[in-house]
Amino acid sequence: SIVVTGATGKLGRHVVEQLLEKVPAEQITAVVRDKAKAADLAGRGVRLAVADYNAPETFDGLFAAGDKVLLISGNEFDKGRPQQHKVVIDAAKAAGVALLAYTSAPGSLSAALADDHRATEEILLGSGVPYVLLRNGWYHENYTENLAPVLAHDAVVAAAGAGRISTASRADYAAAAVAVLTGEGHENRTYELGGDEAWSFAEYAAELSRQTGREIVYNPVSVEQLTGILTGAGLPGPLAAVLAGVDASIEKGELVVSSGDLSRLAGRPTTPLAEAIAVALKERH
Ligand code: NDP
Repeated sequence: SIVVTGATGKLGRHVVEQLLEKVPAEQITAVVRDKAKAADLAGRGVRLAVADYNAPETFDGLFAAGDKVLLISGNEFDKGRPQQHKVVIDAAKAAGVALLAYTSAPGSLSAALADDHRATEEILLGSGVPYVLLRNGWYHENYTENLAPVLAHDAVVAAAGAGRISTASRADYAAAAVAVLTGEGHENRTYELGGDEAWSFAEYAAELSRQTGREIVYNPVSVEQLTGILTGAGLPGPLAAVLAGVDASIEKGELVVSSGDLSRLAGRPTTPLAEAIAVALKERH
């Protein structure tokens, strides 16, 4: 079967949704921590498996030989994600799965946020399990789901200077994952995934202005200033520094992905940023 970890997360839900359009529900297993959170998936015939990256024994016997697995990277930054992911990789290896696809970060990204992904890739390649690296670029939603402070101040604040970034929607990245899980010939491939069009924060502010009818400006700040703004908003210092570090990478162009892999795998152009903005603005009303 096709097994998806992190299935109750935002990306995982898109993946399961799109898998349901392609394969019978009983061929899909959703790995979840909380069964109650996945009741809707069970109701549609998806099989559930309860497991936690922090508890290796919960993955005993979860995979079967020939399974195709999507390991969606975790979000517990303080718990040693490479070790968490190794738990899944070890169980997949023991079972003899046919494929393990991992949601990584662009190969060009040097920011500290990429460290866990590079470490996981190393573990996966060393395991001998047939792999696919889905090196996901940034989500539109990282920005469009965080419009409250932007609209409160009529300003986009970032430490990315004039840097550009090629984002795509979670649904786009999910489509690439589904293509890999349901298609053939992806073994031991690395895909650099990003949106078809790169944008700058000035352009983002201009598009927000156009769609809201207000004057929203781009206010570029330094990495130190952004770290202070984020800690001021309640983020723990280390996390704020890591996130601000991503902006420094954006300024250097490290989140521009020009491979075309995403639209090629999805079989269609990626979702324009303007569309994600429109959806987010509509949801605020
Ligand atoms: P979410 O935070 O919505 O989902 C994370 C998923 O990981 C959840 O399903 C969560 O389970 C699961 N998870 C976390 N810890 C564990 C654990 N210990 N054991 C089992 N499952 C666990 O993130 P998204 O779906 O939006 O993104 C997927 C991943 O991509 C993120 O986890 C992160 O690694 C990365 N990411 C990428 C971004 C990008 O722009 N490319 C932006 C942000 C994150 P549960 O549902 O039970 O909470």
